[in-house]
Amino acid sequence: MSKLQPVRGTHDLLFDEAARHRRIEATALEVAGRYGFREVATPIFEFTEVFARTLGETSDIVTKEMYTFETKGGESITLRPEGTAGIARAFISGGLAQQAPLKMFYRGPMFRHERPQKGRQRQFHQIGVELIGVAGPQADVEVIALAAHILAELRLQGSVTLEINSLGDVESRAVYRNALVEYLSARKDSLSVESQERLLRNPLRILDSKDANDRKVLIDAPSLADYLNDESQAFFAAVRDGLTRLGISFVINPSLVRGLDYYGHTAFEFTTDALGAQGTVLAGGRYDTLIEQMGGPPTPGIGWAAGIERLAMLLPDETAARHLIAAIPMGEEQEAFVQSLASTLRHAGFAVDVGYSGNVGKRMKRADKINAAVAIVVGSDEVRDDSVMVRNLETGEQKLVKQAELIQHLSFLK
Ligand code: ATP
Ligand code: MG
Repeated sequence: MSKLQPVRGTHDLLFDEAARHRRIEATALEVAGRYGFREVATPIFEFTEVFARTLGETSDIVTKEMYTFETKGGESITLRPEGTAGIARAFISGGLAQQAPLKMFYRGPMFRHERPQKGRQRQFHQIGVELIGVAGPQADVEVIALAAHILAELRLQGSVTLEINSLGDVESRAVYRNALVEYLSARKDSLSVESQERLLRNPLRILDSKDANDRKVLIDAPSLADYLNDESQAFFAAVRDGLTRLGISFVINPSLVRGLDYYGHTAFEFTTDALGAQGTVLAGGRYDTLIEQMGGPPTPGIGWAAGIERLAMLLPDETAARHLIAAIPMGEEQEAFVQSLASTLRHAGFAVDVGYSGNVGKRMKRADKINAAVAIVVGSDEVRDDSVMVRNLETGEQKLVKQAELIQHLSFLK
């Protein structure tokens, strides 16, 4: 097998695809800015500890999916599988507690060693936000509203559903965990091998098992909602009320538990049925114990991350307005003239393509291929008369334009 292949689960982002990624990131960053979020960028690798400790020793990511290697100095390093742990680390190591509450936006590649399939890569990209230092439910409402707003700005609101759930506080979860383990232990033999393992280490994860037998067993399992103490119930009610007040519709999904150990209270996902099994495009939740667990001051937080590849697959095709100018010399003698004309136009803010070789016919074909809006054709007569021929490639109209009036004439392209 040739080594000149992309590594399994990675892909090149070429042209239109790169442009789609850029558009998603730029839109998200702009909308996030309206909510007071500002961009941060943490390294794409961290000491393995940063992820191993925070994501939970039993999470899928830590047990199966991390790209971990040893440096020459003998330190264990991991390519980041997600963004929150690195940001929490930065919050602590950078002494940012005084500046809380903090609203952070991030974007970039993430790495997980999982089975590649549609919407699931080993290197993929996320945009995400974290709101650190606010304990109240208004923060949950705000970050969910921001997510909904970004999706709407990308014109995806019709393609996604917001699902929410409450995982309750630590106390509620502990009581529920006991009830769940008791129920499932009595039916252990009917569970998948994976769920049997989780029963001891991370029983809540069994709730979002996709295994058909597990699902059957779960039908009559105790429900987390019945175990929320008064405080947790009030918190969840406040989140729901806040969303309703903002006109954000949602469904409650009682089996929505996020894969990571650090979540409590609000958990949410925006899902779609347009992407098959990889239906979650954006997911997040509240992590009030994470920063303290990592050795920082007790600090609540909430955030979400969205997969850019999955969003990109949902994006409606956009026929970008044509704005490119193709500058075409009739013959070799006009090459130099066209080059300086192109330079003048570019400095005036226009996008100009100069075909590098070929006769006029060939260059006109290229102009079509690159979707140019206008072709400017220059022959010896035109050079002599200080004019150029401007052909509108959409309408086919052609007009001789004085060079002095050219910029004015082309202003419709801006
Ligand atoms: P899934 O259930 O699909 O494995 P997850 O719970 O592991 O998702 P998160 O860790 O919450 O995902 O990441 C947030 C988002 O990042 C996901 O909703 C998804 O859009 C995207 N994402 C996660 N893993 C991948 C991947 N391997 N390839 C592409 N996108 C991904
Ligand atoms: Mg996953």
